Amino acid sequence: MGDDRPTTTPSRAGGPWLIAVDDDPGQLCDVERELRNRYAHDYRVCCLRSGRAALTTLEELAAAGEQVALVLAGEVLSGAPGTGLLGEVRRLFPHAQRVLLVPWGRLGDPGTGDAIFEAIARGRMDHYLVRPSPPPDEQFHRAVSGFLLAWAEARRCAPHTIDVIGETWSGRAYELREVLGRCALPHRFSLAGSDEGRALLAGAGKRRFPLLVMPDGKVMEDPSDTDIARASGTTVEPDGDQYDLVIVGNGPAGLSAGVYGASEGLRTLVVDSGGLGGQATASSSIRNYLGFPRGVTGGDLARRAYEQAWIFGARFAFMQRVTDLRRERERIVVTLAHGGVVAGRAVVLATGASYRRLGVEALEALHGAGVFYGAAASEAPLVSGQEVYVVGGANSAGQAALHLARYARRVTLVVRAATLHAGMSHYLVRQVEATPNVEVRTGAEVVDGGGDGWLEHLVLRRRADGEEETVDAHALFLMIGARPHTEWLPPTVERDPDGFVMTGPDLSDDALRALGRRPMALETSVPGVLAAGDVRHRSVKRVASAVGEGSIAIQLVHRLLAA
Ligand SMILES: Cc1cc2nc3c(=O)[nH]c(=O)nc-3n(C[C@H](O)[C@H](O)[C@H](O)COP(=O)(O)OP(=O)(O)OC[C@H]3O[C@@H](n4cnc5c(N)ncnc54)[C@H](O)[C@@H]3O)c2cc1C
Repeated sequence: MGDDRPTTTPSRAGGPWLIAVDDDPGQLCDVERELRNRYAHDYRVCCLRSGRAALTTLEELAAAGEQVALVLAGEVLSGAPGTGLLGEVRRLFPHAQRVLLVPWGRLGDPGTGDAIFEAIARGRMDHYLVRPSPPPDEQFHRAVSGFLLAWAEARRCAPHTIDVIGETWSGRAYELREVLGRCALPHRFSLAGSDEGRALLAGAGKRRFPLLVMPDGKVMEDPSDTDIARASGTTVEPDGDQYDLVIVGNGPAGLSAGVYGASEGLRTLVVDSGGLGGQATASSSIRNYLGFPRGVTGGDLARRAYEQAWIFGARFAFMQRVTDLRRERERIVVTLAHGGVVAGRAVVLATGASYRRLGVEALEALHGAGVFYGAAASEAPLVSGQEVYVVGGANSAGQAALHLARYARRVTLVVRAATLHAGMSHYLVRQVEATPNVEVRTGAEVVDGGGDGWLEHLVLRRRADGEEETVDAHALFLMIGARPHTEWLPPTVERDPDGFVMTGPDLSDDALRALGRRPMALETSVPGVLAAGDVRHRSVKRVASAVGEGSIAIQLVHRLLAA
């Protein structure tokens, strides 16, 4: 390895590496002590005293096919910023978590703060961490454990991962991956003919595809969505038919309403046609949600909220599409697609929205085989070293492009508008512009494409003059505007021309007259029915606002029930 020899010898043969690098021997010693004391059983720890030695070592590890899970670097290495080394790590180990170590009390220093902000914005590092204090420093280890989990999730080897084995990428095999994603269940996919697929099949011994190998070893042949939900321990049937509150939708708005409703003593049921977390489960890293300075995956946030609502006593019914609702005297009766009804004294509609389809037949045929709707988080590892296209001009598209750029050779963001600023937050525009392997094509659209079993090419059209160009493409991620899930609602629930639910002051004069009083903020045209989150006309389309509306809805439910 590098000429500046590591200060420690490897602790476990074959495990992934944790690398620490610092000029200051005393500081390095503290970090080494913490890493070895806690992680030496499962990881190999290597500590180095210079950026140059660290880079040489990392290059040698990459050439030898080793895995590096975490690189911790001091702020200054041989007079150069530690972020320079961390920036290089991405090229060698796209999944490795890259963390800058800063001394306690330094964060208030504007120079340090600006350097960290800039390096994260430019994708040169993932996080910062305050140097460990004398042991035990559980805060340090909580952060390190989080980094290691993020690394494992990115490599699809997180605890309790479900293996999906299919004969092709698309069709039911893709649907199953989508279902698992929507249930926030970690999973990985293998083709039956691949080395991993054959190894799994040798153990599973069954042949009806797609096949699932569950974390407890149970093998499921071509299971239904409901079978999967049941096998993973989630409830499918409601535990009764009378509730104070029925929440339709289990995304951030519905989960928040579930937490506040149940914690405030309402007998609460949350029903969802899929699994957990709604659109948020498609997000690889939500960085703008309060309280998660290092970002949080949508799946993680959803799992935490679900647990929280459940602990307060909320009940859940997954894989239950709601097909109708009607008012019957003091109750609102909700019809479930699998049969049966549940009734609540109040209902919160939190059915959100999903991406519009592109409507290009050749590309629809490749759905799941290189063409994905908003599924960047789970499919990203498939695009290592490839040409990737993302269509869309909103935050979700920018975020997907940045996430994919960790793996892909090049990501091209195709945007219909003339500038990125038209639909994307300023901080994301900066990150996109600063990422060398992300190219932006504004004023452009995807009009055709194709491939043999997997996407191979796309046709792009320049909107200004209609000129078309055929480009090689390995994957296409579509994030092109939201369509609300409201087609099932009766006409009595007023909606805008795009289908979003009208609430409060936006209700029509007729609805206001029928109500006979000033409407409450989230109240729909049907008394006792509120709407929260992305499903609402003019909603903000952010996790935080959906969560906020979910909690406000509960205050309004109390007022409705009291009246
Ligand atoms: C890829 C991606 C990245 C994003 N990144 C960010 C980010 O970084 N920061 C941020 O603030 N926001 C982000 N967003 C936006 C954010 O996820 C949404 O604003 C938020 O999820 C809206 O929550 P919601 O509960 O209103 O609806 P949704 O999340 O859409 O959830 C609606 C739920 O209702 C269920 N449902 C629909 N119809 C029915 C029915 N008939 N019966 C039963 N259930 C039904 C659905 O299955 C779904 O689970 C991102 C979105 C995407 C797609």
